[in-house]
Amino acid sequence: MKKVGVMKVKFIGATGGIVTGSSYLLEFPKSTFLVDCGMYQGEENVERLNFEPFPFDPARLDYVLLTHAHLDHVGLLPKLVKHGFTGKIICTDATKSLAEIIMMDAAKIQEEDAYYRNNDRSNNVQEEGSYSKGEPLYTRDDIAAVMAAFETYPIGEQVKLGPDMSFRMREAGHILGSVTFEMWYTNSQGRERKLVMSGDLGQTGARIIKDPDFIREADYVIMESTYGGRNHRDKNSTLLELLSILQEASKQKARVIIPTFAVERAQELLYEMNLFVERKLLKGLKFYVDSPLAIKATEIFRAYKRYYDEDAMALVHSGDDPFSFRGLEYTESVHDSRRIAGERGAVIMAGSGMCTGGRVLHHLMNTLPHKDAHILFVGFQVPGTLGRKLVDGAKMVRIHGVEVPVQAQIHTLNGFSAHADQHDLLYWLRSFGHSPKEVFITHGDQTNRTVFAELVRNELQLNAVIPEPGQEYELD
Ligand SMILES: [Zn+2]
Repeated sequence: MKKVGVMKVKFIGATGGIVTGSSYLLEFPKSTFLVDCGMYQGEENVERLNFEPFPFDPARLDYVLLTHAHLDHVGLLPKLVKHGFTGKIICTDATKSLAEIIMMDAAKIQEEDAYYRNNDRSNNVQEEGSYSKGEPLYTRDDIAAVMAAFETYPIGEQVKLGPDMSFRMREAGHILGSVTFEMWYTNSQGRERKLVMSGDLGQTGARIIKDPDFIREADYVIMESTYGGRNHRDKNSTLLELLSILQEASKQKARVIIPTFAVERAQELLYEMNLFVERKLLKGLKFYVDSPLAIKATEIFRAYKRYYDEDAMALVHSGDDPFSFRGLEYTESVHDSRRIAGERGAVIMAGSGMCTGGRVLHHLMNTLPHKDAHILFVGFQVPGTLGRKLVDGAKMVRIHGVEVPVQAQIHTLNGFSAHADQHDLLYWLRSFGHSPKEVFITHGDQTNRTVFAELVRNELQLNAVIPEPGQEYELD
């Protein structure tokens, strides 16, 4: 017998061992929600998914809830609107501001890529089924319509949204404005049920932003497992490693290139470097934020101080601006970016964080062949990216069609991750006093999601499910 009034979740992205493309369809009896609408990033067969039709009708959606503004959580919103979505997009005000600059940046890259594909005669042999021809997914002109759909709410306030559901956002501690969603609805028996969607969870003790909130109750939990298989190095040893690399670079007047995610990581690095410089632990270096996106994101961080944790607020109240210190320069123009290209004794933070495009590429071309130079990786590198190749020890890489030998010292500082590690994830899940009936493990590669699901089963005695793309579950 077909049940009436059942709530269903359909797993779309960030499943099947893929970490990007976050997207979940929630179908309540009278209303339909999408949680996150992320872009697929990484290997070509993953990025190809961006060009597939949505596995639902965007015109039928009432709301999109956004956990945070990273591209792999918001990057397909313009495509959603182009394909008929006319509902509201719900998130924090900081997420709205960050999502705008991130989508604009992505649109610009889409336009450039499409132009390159359509004008590069030498590369004009398209493989069968290849997506890489023709129109961009969306352009900068598409973003205004997306921004008009936003509706922002404060963290901590319970809000009724449509006929079926009420929600409350809680701190996720991942990036500025990031949240976990608590959602209440009535099941087919007329009983109240609660679903919690973790979003991406941050590390406890991360700089600038507040720590993740612990949530006490849920019937169902959908949670990420990016680092479900391992623990980060501890933060203090990571900071000491950063300091010693920078001190060595200062002594040798060497160059340091830091491929930097524009949102959160860039600001966190500035925060630490500000402390090094203010405490006179570092001298004689010039610091550059060579990324228009990171510069805009830093302005947004300055504007939303109410998301800061106590330490960051104390620093601000003492009169110190963590995003401004001796030797720091923001190089917005292309001209300035070229000017600093050969400079010694320079620490250059440039995007993209995984070296898939952006100004970091010309800095890497100039810097990789030099033995005394340092390349510092401070974030997760998706397989298939240039960043991953360098981290994995490639001796020769291809940048803008040129073979570049890798002589520079490559460092990976794991402690900077904006993601909770295995210990943090388990700790967060353990805090649910009343045991959830089911925990769905998503947003992890094959190893991380499998290892984490086993831990959830064995250590917490909970029912852990690993959903695959397109699978649907009733949450009754
Ligand atoms: Zn994220």
